[in-house]
Amino acid sequence: MSVLDELPTTVATVVRQQIAPAAATLDRRRAFPSDNLRALAEAGALGLLVPVSHGGAGGGLEALSAACEEIGGACASTGMTFLMHSVAAATAASDAPAHGRAAELLAGIASGALLGTLAFSERGTGAHFYAPELQAVHEEGRVRISGRKSFVTSGGHADVYLVLVQSDETEGLDCYVVERDAPGVSFDGAWEGLGMAGNASVAMQLDDVAVDADARIGAPGAGAELVFGVVAPVFLVGLAAVNVGIAAAALATATAHAAGRHYADGSVLAEVQAIQHALADMDMAVRATRGLVREAARLGDADDDGALVPIMEAKVAATTAAEAVTQRALEVCGGQGYTPALPIARHLRDARAGAVMAPTNLVLRSWIGKALAGLPVP
Ligand SMILES: Cc1cc2nc3c(=O)[nH]c(=O)nc-3n(C[C@H](O)[C@H](O)[C@H](O)COP(=O)(O)OP(=O)(O)OC[C@H]3O[C@@H](n4cnc5c(N)ncnc54)[C@H](O)[C@@H]3O)c2cc1C
Repeated sequence: MSVLDELPTTVATVVRQQIAPAAATLDRRRAFPSDNLRALAEAGALGLLVPVSHGGAGGGLEALSAACEEIGGACASTGMTFLMHSVAAATAASDAPAHGRAAELLAGIASGALLGTLAFSERGTGAHFYAPELQAVHEEGRVRISGRKSFVTSGGHADVYLVLVQSDETEGLDCYVVERDAPGVSFDGAWEGLGMAGNASVAMQLDDVAVDADARIGAPGAGAELVFGVVAPVFLVGLAAVNVGIAAAALATATAHAAGRHYADGSVLAEVQAIQHALADMDMAVRATRGLVREAARLGDADDDGALVPIMEAKVAATTAAEAVTQRALEVCGGQGYTPALPIARHLRDARAGAVMAPTNLVLRSWIGKALAGLPVP
C-alpha cells in the first residue's frame, strides 16, 4: 500500500490518539498545535499534496478534503494550520521541476521538517488579498521586500512563508519564498480572534528582507496564475472540508447529548419532537455539504473546466452550514452546550472564521454569480 492509501487510517489514528484529546486544552490556552503537526508529519500527512517524486504522498483535493474534515472536526486550529501548510506545499510543488528555493525546500516541506504557510493578506487591501501593495524590488542581484502582512496563520511558528507581492519586472504579481530566519523578518501581536484559538494568525513585518531571485515561485508575473490556479482551489476545498468537520463534530455531540439527557420523569431529550427536527436538519446539512465538497474536489482533481463554480460554492455552502449547525447544536445542548462541559462553544466560535476568510463569502457569492453569467472572475 502507498503512503496515500494508508493516510486515511494513519490520520484517523493521529486524530484519535493525539489531536482530539488535546483539543479542549489547546483551545483554552490558545496554544499553537506544534505536537499535533509533528504527529501528522510523522504520519506522512504534511506531504499529502507533494508529488511522490519530491518526497510527498502525491495526493489531490479528494484526499485533502478527507484529511481536513477528519482533523478539523477534532481541532479546527490544527485543521487550519495543516491546511495552510498544505496550500503552501502545493504552491511550492507547482514549480517543482524548476531549480529554485522552493524546489530546494520541497523535501523538507513534504516531510514536515519545514512548516509552510501563506503571507498574502495586508491591512491596506483586506479581502482583496490578490491585489497586494507590497512590492518586490530587484537590486544588485537580489530581491528586496519591505512592508507588513496581516493574519499570517502559523505566524512565527512556520519556517517557510509564501509572500505575495507586486512584481517590479512585469505588470503582474510574484510569489516569493521567505524564510522565518531571514534578516528583517519579524512577527508581532498575539492571535486574539473569536475562534481557531491556536492558529496563531499574526502580523509579519518585512524590513528590507533580501531573497535570491530564484526564491520566486514560477515565472515573473505568474503570481495571479498561482493564486487562482493553485492556491484558491486547494484553500477553498480544504477550508470547506474543515468546516464540514466542525459541523459533523457539533452534530455528533448534539446527538449523543440528546440521546443521553434523562429527566427526572424518566423521559429523554431526544423524545422531544423539536429536538428530533433539529437533529434531522443538522444531519441533512452535513451530508449535503460533504457531498458538495467531495464533488468539487473530484472535479478539481480531474481538471474539469467546470470545477471553479462548485469549488467556490463548496466553501460558501460548508462555512454557512457550519455556522447554522453549530448554532442549532447549541440549542439542542441547552445550557450544557454553553459551558465547557461540551465542546459546542468551541465549535461555534471556530465556525465563525470561514465566512470572513478570503475569498470571503460575500466576495465569493459575487464571483459565483459572475462565473454563472459568463463574466470574468474576479
Ligand atoms: C482565522 C483567520 C486566518 C487567516 N489566515 C490567513 C493566512 O494564513 N494568510 C493570509 O494571507 N490571510 C489570512 N487571513 C486573512 C483573511 O483571508 C482575509 O484577508 C482577512 O480576514 C480580511 O479581513 P479585513 O478585515 O481586512 O477585510 P475587509 O476588506 O475590511 O472586508 C470587510 C468585509 O467587507 C466585505 N467586502 C470587502 N470588499 C468586498 C467586495 N468587493 N465585495 C463584497 N464584499 C466585500 C468582506 O467580505 C468582509 O466581510 C486569515 C483570517 C482569519 C480570520
